[in-house]
Amino acid sequence: MDWFIGKTRRKEKEGADSSSSTDSKLYLESKVLERKLPEMDLKILVDLPAGLDYNEWLASHTMSLFDHVNLVYGAISEFCTATSCPDMTGPGQRTYLWFDEKGKKTKVAAPQYIDYVMTFIQKTISDETIFPTKYANEFPVSFESIVRKIVRLLYHVVAHLYAAHFKEVLLLGLHSHLNLTFAHLMALHHRFTLIDPKETDILEDLEMALGLNQEAVEAANNNEERDRSEDSRSQSTEDTCGDNKS
Ligand SMILES: [Zn+2]
Repeated sequence: MDWFIGKTRRKEKEGADSSSSTDSKLYLESKVLERKLPEMDLKILVDLPAGLDYNEWLASHTMSLFDHVNLVYGAISEFCTATSCPDMTGPGQRTYLWFDEKGKKTKVAAPQYIDYVMTFIQKTISDETIFPTKYANEFPVSFESIVRKIVRLLYHVVAHLYAAHFKEVLLLGLHSHLNLTFAHLMALHHRFTLIDPKETDILEDLEMALGLNQEAVEAANNNEERDRSEDSRSQSTEDTCGDNKS
């Protein structure tokens, strides 16, 4: 895990900065910013290989993400009850309402919401007309929008795990699995733009801390570098002046 050490040290400062502005977020602390794969591997992991069908590719990642979210949530589900989590919450006071079959919004407790999510996804990915496994069957036209919905709902579950159950996740030593699942989800999203940015802003700080949003990280680094080079430029001007005098 050599690659991990430098990263952690670098993140320590940023973690401290962000905790001062918001209520303390355990998942942003440097000691828990652990995941199993460095970012480049994740990019390769989600990049569509030449000759592979786009829908097939989306299907396999969606199913894998579902399995991982299911495993982590399953491990802590006894702590997620109607009493402990009367609302389906995410970080930053985000609350999710469930849309029932008639499209009506209803407030449900987190375990109920997550049960609806997992039942819906299980049913959908087992449906041969939506996720075909047999050679003759084809993906429906609406396949991509169904995947978007699944990925969005999985994001809600992950958001709830971070906001309400990170302590339990950490106690069970599952934080690196959760971070990796989040990293996978975000890598897939950044590659194929699957989730509305209004949804993903609540975990943007974690994305930055884990170094997932490469463009944002690079932009921040460039700004830092620019500031630094401006500093050194003004310094070198002074040096030149000094040289001239002598
Ligand atoms: Zn809960």
